[in-house]
Amino acid sequence: MQIDSLPTREGLGKGLFPILGKVIYGKYPLVYLDNAATTQKPRQVVEAMTEEYYNVNANVHRGVHFLSQQATDLHEASRETVRRFLNARSTTEIVFTRGTTESINLVASCFGQAFMKEGDEVILSEMEHHSNIVSWQLLQARSGIRLRIVPITDDGLLKMDEYEKLFNERTKIVSITHVSNVLGTINPVKDIIRIAHEHGVPVLIDGAQSTPHMPIDVQELGCDFFAFSGHKIYGPTGIGVLYGKEEWLDRIPPYMGGGEMIKTVSFERTTFNELPYKFEAGTPDYVASTGLAQALDFVTSIGFDAIQAHERDLTAYAMQRLMEVEDMKIYGPKEVSLHDAVISFQVGNIHHLDMGTLLDRLGIAVRTGHHCAEPLMRRLGIEGTCRASFALYNTREDVDALVEGIKRVKQMF
Ligand code: PMP
Repeated sequence: MQIDSLPTREGLGKGLFPILGKVIYGKYPLVYLDNAATTQKPRQVVEAMTEEYYNVNANVHRGVHFLSQQATDLHEASRETVRRFLNARSTTEIVFTRGTTESINLVASCFGQAFMKEGDEVILSEMEHHSNIVSWQLLQARSGIRLRIVPITDDGLLKMDEYEKLFNERTKIVSITHVSNVLGTINPVKDIIRIAHEHGVPVLIDGAQSTPHMPIDVQELGCDFFAFSGHKIYGPTGIGVLYGKEEWLDRIPPYMGGGEMIKTVSFERTTFNELPYKFEAGTPDYVASTGLAQALDFVTSIGFDAIQAHERDLTAYAMQRLMEVEDMKIYGPKEVSLHDAVISFQVGNIHHLDMGTLLDRLGIAVRTGHHCAEPLMRRLGIEGTCRASFALYNTREDVDALVEGIKRVKQMF
């Protein structure tokens, strides 16, 4: 399928995504299928950041001088772009962080401090990324909270009836991923949130893997917190977002202390800044926020209708073609509508590391290992998988190259 607004294979090297024009081990074009780890950056993101360093750079929020005001305007305009992208009610609900990991740690730490004491419970799922497990374990070590885990089916779907049974009077928060970075499962987050709210419990959604692939409307979802990373959605590294409903952000304490997050400071008593600055101690990465806004504009200009149609086609095509390979096992939902652009697989008893290394020599970049989801690996009874994950610039030719590559690797064994 070729969608007019999507970049073409031929245009990749010279055009929008220069890195995709690289020759690796004499192979061209690069078949980059590690997008769930990080996406490549369109030219407009890199150029906007370079332009800001060359022509605008000054610290934000502090200076009366021209450049500082210009940098501040850009930074705050980026916050508005994020607000629009998530359809949050107000920019006061958009906190810039370093990424999903920091956003989740912020909630675990600050919500935990305000609302959780020994014996209180957080509900997670068996398919969480380490960042949504270990953050809560740090709180557990500090305050003695308990982790309750929603189990999954063999097809990688959450057992929703078991989820509902986990609630009790000690349940204080639910923290669950929107899309699994291993299985590609698209979780029924609206139902997850509705059920939690019926029990009066707020919900944090880990949107690291959903934001690049589907439109997000935090008001429609009704989530209380939503976290995502810039680098997974064509933006720069080092920046991400925590969306939080104002009523929650108002009620939880700051995360870190320092400049920006205060109103007044004395040795006796410090008062904190208004939202969202209360959570933004220190000099923010105001250049990365510009890059993130450019990335979100880039995605919006293509539109999620086109992106989803293209990526669904790629996922369905890849699942079908991969099954041509003898001894192929694909993890996660069989139903393509429940399976996002991430496919984990294992071929016979070829070790995933060998498969990944040999595919690399053929100019095909995939991920191998536990994908920061060791408890999920344990549930699946494996040590790791090979993972191919798609972005809007991937094509059916990339899938063909992957399948042919796997067949060649198989012949070598
Ligand atoms: N959650 C999920 C589902 C992820 O896939 C990732 C990144 N692999 C993270 C959280 C952490 O994101 P980051 O490293 O950008 O903070």
